[in-house]
Amino acid sequence: MTRQEERIRARRRQRRRQARMVRRVVFGVCLFIILILCIYGHHNHKRVLSLQSEIDRLEQQLKKSKSDSNDLKKQLDELQKELEQKQQELDKKEAALYDDPNKPNVYMTFDDGPSSNTDTILDTLAANNIRATFFCIAQKGEANEKRYQRIVNEGHTIGMHSYTHEYGTVYASLESFEQDVTQISDYIFQMTGVRPKYYRFPGGSSNTVSKVPMKECIRYLNQSGLTYFDWNAQNDDATGKSYTASQLVEHAMKNVKMAGDNVVLLMHDEQTKTATAEALPTLIKRLKNAGYDILPITDKTPLVQHVSKDSVS
Ligand SMILES: [Zn+2]
Repeated sequence: MTRQEERIRARRRQRRRQARMVRRVVFGVCLFIILILCIYGHHNHKRVLSLQSEIDRLEQQLKKSKSDSNDLKKQLDELQKELEQKQQELDKKEAALYDDPNKPNVYMTFDDGPSSNTDTILDTLAANNIRATFFCIAQKGEANEKRYQRIVNEGHTIGMHSYTHEYGTVYASLESFEQDVTQISDYIFQMTGVRPKYYRFPGGSSNTVSKVPMKECIRYLNQSGLTYFDWNAQNDDATGKSYTASQLVEHAMKNVKMAGDNVVLLMHDEQTKTATAEALPTLIKRLKNAGYDILPITDKTPLVQHVSKDSVS
């Protein structure tokens, strides 16, 4: 081998070495790039996964919100219904208090209760959407105690008719009359939370059994800001005779018609006066047919007094 050939071979070997070197470098660079791509891909995959789980979470939240909003809608519908029902009840109550100026008025009043007949009377009044006035005395026992509250709850006017209803006690002296008024006022307040402002004298303001001059009792009520109502018609359920329900209706209708356009009708809510409670549905029908408004006593009710409050200085 000549020196020339040796030089050529050595150059070739060197070129081959250089080529191997270049291939290695290229391979290394490629490997590096692939590695970078892998790392980047992995990172991206992780990010995609986390985004996916975020989307799932939001979807679930949306579903829950939807079901919550359905629940709320249901609750809202129920409240709306309740409101409408209350409004209807209110309208009914207001209608029962409407006083047509073209119609004569009858104020039905029930004295001496509550009693075992009160619930029947209240049921009838409710069924006819009518309010009345109850002049109560102090009746004891759990059943009666509940009846005071029912009278008030159902929109009727509750008034006082003395604590004991014993003429000898109530009218023994002015002092005992005053004490009796305070007692029945407190008793009704205790039973109902309502401080009564209307009064009916046992026996009326024109009674002749009182040992105290009635004007003194009237003066006391005037000074106490209490208004008393007597009556100008009755159904005759306290005359001592036992009338049937239909007789009581006839008596009431006759007396109401004689009393004019502003009638305070006296009846009794007492254990023995079952016929009065029995007569009530027919009496209401007859009064309505005869064109009367039936109303509870309020501050607007024109006074019906046997002895006028203004006759006392
Ligand atoms: Zn009485």
